[in-house]
Amino acid sequence: MSGSLPRIPVAQPVLDGREFEYVKECFDTNWIASNGPFVERFERQFADYCGVKHAIAANNGTTALHLALAGLGVGEGDEVIVPTLTYIATANTVKYCNASPVFVDNDPRTLNIDPEAILRAITPRTKGIIPVHLYGHPADMDPIREIAAAHGLFVLEDAAEATGASYKGRKVGSVSDVASFSFFGNKIITTGEGGMLTTDDDELAKTLRLLRGQGMDPERRYWFPVIGFNYRMTNVAAAIGLGQLERIEHHLAARQRVARLYHDRLGRLEAAGKIVRPTSENWAEHVYWMYTILLAPGLGPHRDRVMSEMDAAGIETRPVFHPLHTLPPYRDLAGAGFPVAEDCAARGINLPTYGLLTEGDIDRVVSALEKSLG
Ligand SMILES: *Cc1c(COP(=O)(O)O)cnc(C)c1O
Repeated sequence: MSGSLPRIPVAQPVLDGREFEYVKECFDTNWIASNGPFVERFERQFADYCGVKHAIAANNGTTALHLALAGLGVGEGDEVIVPTLTYIATANTVKYCNASPVFVDNDPRTLNIDPEAILRAITPRTKGIIPVHLYGHPADMDPIREIAAAHGLFVLEDAAEATGASYKGRKVGSVSDVASFSFFGNKIITTGEGGMLTTDDDELAKTLRLLRGQGMDPERRYWFPVIGFNYRMTNVAAAIGLGQLERIEHHLAARQRVARLYHDRLGRLEAAGKIVRPTSENWAEHVYWMYTILLAPGLGPHRDRVMSEMDAAGIETRPVFHPLHTLPPYRDLAGAGFPVAEDCAARGINLPTYGLLTEGDIDRVVSALEKSLG
């Protein structure tokens, strides 16, 4: 059916900077493990980019989240508020600390955590809040920070999907106590597998570095005052990351171009009442990790058919995340359900989103979608 047209994947890295040159430098200098100059260079440049004092690299976004929670002292008996509409690592890392995630619903426009729902979820055991900048759109941080300040809670941004996004003119990663990022192969910038934490808090940064490196005292080799982890990033991964970060404006601009093309081409389907295009609030700079549409209310039952017809046309898409309270490990936290998340998840489709997409590719995606929606 797709004839000889190449398949369009849902995501793809764009490695068109000095990544390979820097990786070769790792080989030439024999620095391939986590000692080596690229880790510090990548951390310094990432901190500067986000406008924070400290950046601490980790070996993936999940370990970065776990480190942050451990560094914040989350433990047995604590509750941490997370959106139910997110990637599973956001909640799993709370469980890694023997603490309990407490789910809340999302705002239907941005798909991000609903600040009012946070207020209702606070108990005497609540320790913090993890807003997730889902699919690249920042969460509404001011009300979240106000709630946190009023209740003595930490705020940890899960910025895994939103490197480079801004909230009211400030980069994500700089609008909370600590933020975590992912550089998996499909993210905004990649190191293959990798992650990063950002913070302005000197003490917390020190703790995070300590915990990342097995808990080894920086002043006394092979002396371990605490139980830490080995969550270090390799010099090779950091070399790729630095190459990516040097060209981040280009990567973000390429995604903006893709989003604009989708926005133009999908106007007709929205006017016909068949889909809703993603919104970008006026206080937000959306980086479009995934260009996410919702089928119109009532068309939800057609979602899986639409995705399989697009697949048959050579176009890979993704369903919006299953809300975590619907997944086996977390069903006991479903309560009365989370109607907004369930509705968005049932109607949501992530369209292919990456910098290399051509106008012709986007036309193919849009016409397959139009055909499928009649
Ligand atoms: C990708 C992702 C993570 C985890 O990052 P990995 O690098 O894959 O471990 C965490 N949270 C969210 C929201 C993500 O999208």
